Amino acid sequence: RGSESEVSEFLSTGIYRLSNFSGVFVDPVRLLNSSYSSHQVSSTAYYSRFFQSKQEQPRTTSRKKRKRAATSPPPLNQAELRHQEVRPVLVKAHESFLEATHLLSVLPTLRNTSENSNVSGVKQSLVQLGAVWQAPLFDITLKFHSNQAHPFDNGDVPTSFVDSKVLPIFNNLVANDTSYDVEAELLDSKYIIPRHSCFLMSDMVHINKLIPENSDCGFHLIVVDPPWENGSARQKSMYPTLPNKYFLSLPIKKLAHTEGAIVALWVTNREKLRSFVERELFAKWGVKHVATYYWLKVKADGSLISELDLFHHRPYECLLLGYCFGEAATSSQKTTFKTLRDDVIISIPGDYSRKPPLEELLKEYVPGSKPAKCIELFAREMAAGWTSWGNEPLHFQDSSYFIKG
Ligand code: SAM
Repeated sequence: RGSESEVSEFLSTGIYRLSNFSGVFVDPVRLLNSSYSSHQVSSTAYYSRFFQSKQEQPRTTSRKKRKRAATSPPPLNQAELRHQEVRPVLVKAHESFLEATHLLSVLPTLRNTSENSNVSGVKQSLVQLGAVWQAPLFDITLKFHSNQAHPFDNGDVPTSFVDSKVLPIFNNLVANDTSYDVEAELLDSKYIIPRHSCFLMSDMVHINKLIPENSDCGFHLIVVDPPWENGSARQKSMYPTLPNKYFLSLPIKKLAHTEGAIVALWVTNREKLRSFVERELFAKWGVKHVATYYWLKVKADGSLISELDLFHHRPYECLLLGYCFGEAATSSQKTTFKTLRDDVIISIPGDYSRKPPLEELLKEYVPGSKPAKCIELFAREMAAGWTSWGNEPLHFQDSSYFIKG
């Protein structure tokens, strides 16, 4: 059932290892918070779904549609075979989670409704902003505190602004090299930039020319969450998508460190996509697929967000994990590392398509020297020690997603 000490450790780290099983429950808010010194990620803003009571919960699928999905027998195709293969693992993980009663009892507290957050405010669409002709003229202003320019090591949290830096916001690497959070302004919006992090806001079309030639830019962990086309109107209204063949040209080998890198790729459950990745994409990227993580999505009451066997709306997504070595890697540079195995990550989802942070879960498997250099492609948020690249990497950095800590 999980001891109270395990739960108190979870409340400080955001990670709870299930005892009878190799799965893990995570609180993304706690994991994200380790990147910030003077701000906190607002849990009310993060958990915008799956915390409402049954009456409040908006019904996404009509009763008629659900009935049809549940009664028509699923075709025994490759997708169904994959599902049947992983099904017992997911059932077991969910059972272990439900047995952790101490953990279940704290789930409703993960969303702290007494927080003073302003998440419903209108946010700037960075994708739209990047598409206007004036985009190259837009600047972002980073506001450093008095001791951020020359950070002291005594842990004092700075209080007053003295220095600022104005940088082009698009097609430009913008970095916070200090050991503190930095506030940044773009037009009328304010963003929170974690310590030792940087972002590149651009159309990924420019990726090849934006990676500096012969730079030692190798990354040890490369997370990719592509805007796959899936035909859903909902997705189309959230962000632009790209055809599969586009992803073949992503220079993963160029981004990978010569010591080796884990490449972690989020995929949907569509069979066409899974076979494209396994047969074409990983081969083109030079990635050897070694393990799969299943992200099982639950509500605050511990139940799955949808029926496990609902064909078009599975309550889980897959993260394919593989290794890749940089272009110039020699066998002596390749490091040895702990081998990845299949696993289950359980969490309560945040906003549409927002994935749980992976660094803490993967760090013991990441090859190469420490601290690991990490990059996320198609990112919508930032983290300490990471480079975030995409057409809206500041999306969840909007100050309305934070409370002053
Ligand atoms: N991992 C993110 C998260 O957890 O919030 C979600 C990423 S979402 C699946 C895909 C992202 O790719 C969206 O932010 C979308 O705007 C962005 N995107 C779409 N087309 C792009 C392009 N041509 N260049 C750069 N980013 C693009």
